[in-house]
Amino acid sequence: IYLLCRNFPCRQLSHLVHISSPCFTGANGIRLTMESALTARDRVGVQDFVLLENFTSEAAFIENLRKRFKENLIYTYIGSVLVSVNPYKELEIYSKQNMERYRGVSFYEVSPHLYAIADNSYRSLRTERKDQCILISGESGAGKTEATKKILQYYAVTCPASQQVETVKDRLLQSNPVLEAFGNAKTLRNDNSSRFGKYMDVQFDYRGAPVGGHILNYLLEKSRVVHQNHGERNFHIFYQLLEGGEEDLLRRLGLEKNPQQYHYLVKGHCARVSSINDKNDWKIVRRALSVISFKDNEVEDLLSIVASVLHLGNVQFAADEQGNAQVTTENQIKYLARLLAVEGSVLRDALIHKKIIAKGEELISPLNLEQAAYARDALAKAIYGRTFSWLVNKVNKSLAYEFPGWRSTTVLGLLDIYGFEVFQHNSFEQFCINYCNEKLQQLFIELTLKSEQEEYEAEGIAWEPVQYFNNKIICDLVEEKFKGIISILDEECLRPGDATDTTFLEKLEETVKNHPHFLTHKLADQKTRKSLGREEFRLLHYAGEVTYSVAGFLDKNNDLLFRNLKETMCNSENPIINQCFDRTELTDKKRPETAATQFKNSLSKLMEILMSKEPSYIRCIKPNDAKQADRFDEVLIRHQVKYLGLMENLRVRRAGFAYRRKYEVFLQRYKSLCPETWPTWDGRPHDGVAVLVKHLGYKQEEYKMGRTKIFIRFPKTLFATEDALEV
Ligand code: ATP
Ligand code: MG
Repeated sequence: IYLLCRNFPCRQLSHLVHISSPCFTGANGIRLTMESALTARDRVGVQDFVLLENFTSEAAFIENLRKRFKENLIYTYIGSVLVSVNPYKELEIYSKQNMERYRGVSFYEVSPHLYAIADNSYRSLRTERKDQCILISGESGAGKTEATKKILQYYAVTCPASQQVETVKDRLLQSNPVLEAFGNAKTLRNDNSSRFGKYMDVQFDYRGAPVGGHILNYLLEKSRVVHQNHGERNFHIFYQLLEGGEEDLLRRLGLEKNPQQYHYLVKGHCARVSSINDKNDWKIVRRALSVISFKDNEVEDLLSIVASVLHLGNVQFAADEQGNAQVTTENQIKYLARLLAVEGSVLRDALIHKKIIAKGEELISPLNLEQAAYARDALAKAIYGRTFSWLVNKVNKSLAYEFPGWRSTTVLGLLDIYGFEVFQHNSFEQFCINYCNEKLQQLFIELTLKSEQEEYEAEGIAWEPVQYFNNKIICDLVEEKFKGIISILDEECLRPGDATDTTFLEKLEETVKNHPHFLTHKLADQKTRKSLGREEFRLLHYAGEVTYSVAGFLDKNNDLLFRNLKETMCNSENPIINQCFDRTELTDKKRPETAATQFKNSLSKLMEILMSKEPSYIRCIKPNDAKQADRFDEVLIRHQVKYLGLMENLRVRRAGFAYRRKYEVFLQRYKSLCPETWPTWDGRPHDGVAVLVKHLGYKQEEYKMGRTKIFIRFPKTLFATEDALEV
């Protein structure tokens, strides 16, 4: 068994011998671990990039990923960061049996897996009672949401249970299909793309059982409600309802089964997708809604809103002789009045008029065709966006932990948030998303460097300063008060009169003209100028350049809904709509915060939450753009390695010592190599390791002895020791 373990990668070995436990004892009494089975490193690369000999070479990094991907080994570490490559196929590594293998086992005893990250965080939470968070990043389609779900499943299976806990586990798991139905959509990049950012706290009680949870949502892509690009869809729930909804229900909602009937569903020309089974998903969502304690009447109210958005999309206008918009689809108004529980005539009027209050007086003016269509779409977006937030709230109520007072809880947070985005055409949404990634990168830099430094200090080893790019300069460029891009944008949004996207750009040029990370057509030199349009600005992000078109920035940032539409909604008798549109909005003199400022504030709160926790990282990589298994597109992957900052991460991790291990673990593994430590060492593990490395001839510059761990500088030292085991 020992020789088999040495010479076969674990997966192959498991065909030959049945391994029921991660650790077993060989014939000669040597305790073997799965790690021994996995160090056939020549066959499957290294399972920790830190052990790459040529750690500065991006080519070596990618080659290691490729080798492992080919063998279906999709997980690899950089120290304690997990790099994951989406396999685009079902691998048999998520079974309950496999979950058990990771329980309570040290990181390095088993092959890299997100269960190891999940278990490690859980153990720190339990033993040190320190709040944890797992940050999952990567581009669209890289596998963030799947990873989040798998971690939740891991906790649901492995954490202690009781009847009450089972209910919480169920609700935690079932909140996913509901939020995905309303917040996910098919895009060109991912058939189930999350169009919102999500941070989920799971609360654990003193026994380590999940007893509650809380979700924070970020920036739902509302524009999708009224428009989809070619090959993309609206949010899943619309198609699920049409495809799966019972005849009776559809009749009540005034809906027809065919999605082609609805303007808001035909823009992308792909209502049906082979990888998506809307009918089945509908059943899952219906069941999930009842698990998270939706009553039947609440479901009906919610679906009425979904239906009303479709009807709203079908409201058409024609111009009268004066050029003023008139509603031509009276039928839709009838449905809308019923579903939203509002007065039909009031809604009709509100859709074609604009009401302004100036100096205490009401001014009502008619809208032209374009303005009416704009008002209609704004209403659809507002209704859907607010209902989504309401839904998150509702889920939170069902997950809320009834705090019994004397029992404290610890918290583990999971962050599944949009990755860096660079498209052909980048707008306000990409600007916000990439700003969010800058903030997360900054947190990552601060926390990784900090934790490295802390470990050195805790172990009593001199800290060696590391060079790295600090992206604070870019965060400041975006968020600084008065001078930052968001400030300038808000200023233009609040300026009465002639503010436009162009004046915003001009102001930007004036204020940040000499910034090394900012460029526009006017500011660029002749050569670069060709690549920049007159309505664009370019930011040099830590992950690379992105050119943003300013068109729509003001409008999206203002996110305005005409006052009379707001009023109509405030009077709605649909209980959900009624909660979504609060009367105080109408009387509040203060302007509501702009979209960018709201986002900035919520990000700053998120950073505070994350800073107070011990972080773990999962970096997800998408192997190809075709959503296909077994295709490793090197160019695409190199790009992601770059903007996930993996090479820099590795450099920081390798700046000092490549390998570190607790004395007990190190001794256990290598004690057979020295007559004085074999078969047992009775003294302190620290002294045993000192004797052992002396016997092995380690040179002074090759290692350092910390308080609880040995630090080894170069992988080759460790490999030589590993090889000695084989002799
Ligand atoms: P987005 O930012 O668009 O939400 P994402 O990173 O959340 O993207 P996922 O939805 O998690 O991406 O993954 C996209 C698809 O890739 C999944 O629907 C699934 O088909 C496949 N996939 C991801 N991870 C795995 C995995 N571990 N095993 C098998 N398939 C996977
Ligand atoms: Mg996702």
